[in-house]
Amino acid sequence: MSDALRLEKYSFGVGDRFAHQAKAQLRACVQAAGRGVEVTPVWNKSFREHSIVGSEPPSVLAAAEAAVKELGWDKPFRVDADHIRLDTVDGFVETSDFYTLDVADSIGEPAAEEDVRAFVERHTELVGRLEIPGIAEPFETTREEIERIARKFLKAVQDAGRIYRHVASIKGRGNFIAEVSMDETDTPQTPPELLVILAAIADEGIPAQTVAPKFTGRFNKGVDYVGDVTQFEKEFNEDIAVIAHAVSKYDLPSNLKLSVHSGSDKFSIYEPIRRALARTGAGIHVKTAGTTWLEEIIGLAESGGEGLELAKEIYGKALDDIDALCAPYATVIDIDRAKLPSKEEVQGWTSLEYVGALRHDRKNPLYNPSLRQLLHVGYKVAAKMGGRYLDMLKSNAEIVGRNVTENLYDRHIVPLFVGAETAAGAGGD
Ligand SMILES: [Zn+2]
Repeated sequence: MSDALRLEKYSFGVGDRFAHQAKAQLRACVQAAGRGVEVTPVWNKSFREHSIVGSEPPSVLAAAEAAVKELGWDKPFRVDADHIRLDTVDGFVETSDFYTLDVADSIGEPAAEEDVRAFVERHTELVGRLEIPGIAEPFETTREEIERIARKFLKAVQDAGRIYRHVASIKGRGNFIAEVSMDETDTPQTPPELLVILAAIADEGIPAQTVAPKFTGRFNKGVDYVGDVTQFEKEFNEDIAVIAHAVSKYDLPSNLKLSVHSGSDKFSIYEPIRRALARTGAGIHVKTAGTTWLEEIIGLAESGGEGLELAKEIYGKALDDIDALCAPYATVIDIDRAKLPSKEEVQGWTSLEYVGALRHDRKNPLYNPSLRQLLHVGYKVAAKMGGRYLDMLKSNAEIVGRNVTENLYDRHIVPLFVGAETAAGAGGD
């Protein structure tokens, strides 16, 4: 397994819904490399996104390869079959080398009682006082507590094992990166729960290189974190310590790291994350997606003329169709409808007003998070426009691309990664 595909220390998930921004996205990683920070780009697109846009998984690899060639990127890149399950994975197997095994829906489904009992018997080390380096207060657990956690998560981990083995039977073990994701659920997993989950992942024989728990707080699409940042930082630090501990105790890849499904733009937790990376030398995977589609709209609006008109039309149609557009994302958006401007109002906007409302600049008084979330989930409107939308992207490629790159580099990559490595010293793999 020494030549198994291994995910790098810092990786950054980007979404390119209309397959026109891979080059602009990659340029952000080129800029990071210029600052001495190696960030591996991972193009992610879920089954849900493909269905809404009407695209097929191979298009993601094709766009990534074209960008890599054009920019002469000679470092690794990955293509993530994002949030796949057993019933949706097959279309991705040809062209993805990263698999986000989504088993959030299986959380709480009871595993077979004898499996739960066997797990607890095998893992007596999880019961009692657990001293974990890097966590000030030892965990105190009882056998009942571990049983309760196993009962809640074992079935989900077993399901992840089923998807993993299915992919492995086609691609071969070691030829792809596996992530276990449990983020799309309501209740966050506590650090002791994460430890139990990791023990179970090791038992299940999944060589997970990333794990995506549900963190405390709300991760609404395209807008900032909503929650207690101090609490987040404590949990995040404990999760890092739990992972290091699990890697030392169980049969798990040594590069196992946290994956943050950010829903894009969780700026207020970037600083705590960067601090934790600097302090511990841990790696991280941060997923974004829709933030790039919003930069397309911003670029079009900024271009004025027809681009601005199209951006207004997209908003109008999104507003008309708000219920249907929001439905698949109901648990990950918080739109205050009273704050949404009318179509007529937006019709009268200048470039500056449109861009000000949409661009994620918390200092701009025009910034409107409700409008931003609506447009975030509104990409189906552009998908329906088909060639008209894509032609507009092509004729405004430069201004759109500049916004895409600047957004990823200045607002995401720099606050997350630049400085983290130097402070952590020569650590890493
Ligand atoms: Zn996710």
